[in-house]
Amino acid sequence: MNEQIAQQRHPKGLWVLFGTEMWERFNFYGMRTILTLFIVNALLISKEQSSIIYGGFLGLCYLTPMLGGFVADRFLGNRLCIILGGLLMALGQLLLFFSATIFSSNLELAKTLLYVALGIIIFGNGFFKPNISSMVSSLYPKEEKSKLDTAFTIFYMGINLGAFLGQLICPLIGDVIKDGVRDIHAFKWGYLASSIAMLIGTTTFFLLKDKYVRTPEGRPIGGLPSKNIAADYEEGEAQKATFSSTSLLVASAAFVGLGLLFHYIFDQNIIYSIIYASGLTLAGLIISDGSITKIERDRILVIYIVSFFIIFFWAAFEQAGSSLTFIANDQTDRNFFGWQMPPSMVQIFNGIFVVAFAIPFSILWDKLRAKGKEPISPFKQAIGLALIALSYFIIANNVKDLGNSGLLAVKWLILLYLIQTFGELCLSPIGLSLVGKLSPKRFSSLLYGVFFLSNASGYALAGTLGSILPATGEQFKNASKMGINLQGVLDKTIIPTSEQIKLLSENKISIVNPTFASFTIHNLYDFFMVFVVLCGLASILLFLLTPLLKKMMHGIR
Ligand code: GLN
Repeated sequence: MNEQIAQQRHPKGLWVLFGTEMWERFNFYGMRTILTLFIVNALLISKEQSSIIYGGFLGLCYLTPMLGGFVADRFLGNRLCIILGGLLMALGQLLLFFSATIFSSNLELAKTLLYVALGIIIFGNGFFKPNISSMVSSLYPKEEKSKLDTAFTIFYMGINLGAFLGQLICPLIGDVIKDGVRDIHAFKWGYLASSIAMLIGTTTFFLLKDKYVRTPEGRPIGGLPSKNIAADYEEGEAQKATFSSTSLLVASAAFVGLGLLFHYIFDQNIIYSIIYASGLTLAGLIISDGSITKIERDRILVIYIVSFFIIFFWAAFEQAGSSLTFIANDQTDRNFFGWQMPPSMVQIFNGIFVVAFAIPFSILWDKLRAKGKEPISPFKQAIGLALIALSYFIIANNVKDLGNSGLLAVKWLILLYLIQTFGELCLSPIGLSLVGKLSPKRFSSLLYGVFFLSNASGYALAGTLGSILPATGEQFKNASKMGINLQGVLDKTIIPTSEQIKLLSENKISIVNPTFASFTIHNLYDFFMVFVVLCGLASILLFLLTPLLKKMMHGIR
């Protein structure tokens, strides 16, 4: 792939999209580094609640792309949606900047601003994300579609270069710790930087789109749909899916029913219930369509099965911005070659490792393919799940003997991100192209919708799992400053006085251990083992299913 990248000339438009997406991911991941720390330290919301907010926010960011894709296809076109989405996200970041500026004088207003800002960013992301990715393939003539794999590898590196820059700059200026004390007034600079990055991205796109973002024949890509001509569609694409009003009615009823089920029976909050119900309903609506042939049905089922398994991957992966950042903050020795790294910056290693390893991974798959040994996509995804389980297994064993006050060496978190990045590279870019290859054309964008909804469900589950993080070092320290033996309280060997209970609750320290599926999480070891078990089981099941999936893919790899 390396030589291929050097040999192949890519249209200049790819670099415009690369730059636009790079600045957008700077804004997104930069903000992600400080979000939960800001919510907990400045807005005084508990860690548990902040993980739930974080999961809901990320989940909704992957629900709204369906809306953004729909509005672009029918009304506004990709270009306008990208500009609108970019401006919305820049505005949202600016509101976060205001929230982080005024919280000490008006906490309630600051909290309101947080929710409004996150809402605006969710819609901005929904307009931006699907539309930028879908423009990539239109840059290439039909006979050069084989360049697409490389094009997406380059694009994925743009994503992660942006993530890296955001995760470098925002912690440096927004997560400031002086003499062991956090400057809670610094967060705002991280949000301001994110807002500026988004404006740079939107302006870059605005200025360069007309000149470079064009089809090989020179027609502008992503203009108003009303101005599209037949040649703008791929062969067969005009044949769009249409559902009968009966099926739409049944689907709406199913959506409400499933939403109520998740909310009332499985005790999920409204947002998580909507995300899970949307994914299942859309999946059901597509597969029940009468026009689907036997082979198409098999292939669609493969997309569904894979989508189900990758929920567990993202749920484990997205601990980065919540529980793993809290651990980096509370119980980690962040000495990095003599320099104290800000806790929010530890996430940066994911971006760095993707940029470093995306091309070697492509080369590896190319080499295996040349030898006829390349595994089929679901097999690679099972490897991705196994790797993430391994990453948590290693860290679980490193925290085992830390106790309440020992510090985890930051190298273990770096190793965790390295292994997780290898997992991501086995699973994420491959998933996108697999959906493209397996989908019947007329259902392709809807099936991408199902795939993104499985990402959204993974993020929602990440929120639930992040919220079972047990007490970490800092809480034990704070409790002991108040003269309370928190471990004794948690083990129920000491019964706290009502005064102590009040003190602990004011400091957002829970007096009971969290539970998950009726298991009590006593310590960080138990916490990490939850991910080992969930992802490990998912991986084994997916490995076992591969021969069947291979048959169901009918010749597609
Ligand atoms: N890190 C990638 C991005 O931000 C992929 C995330 C995902 O697919 N869930 O685009």
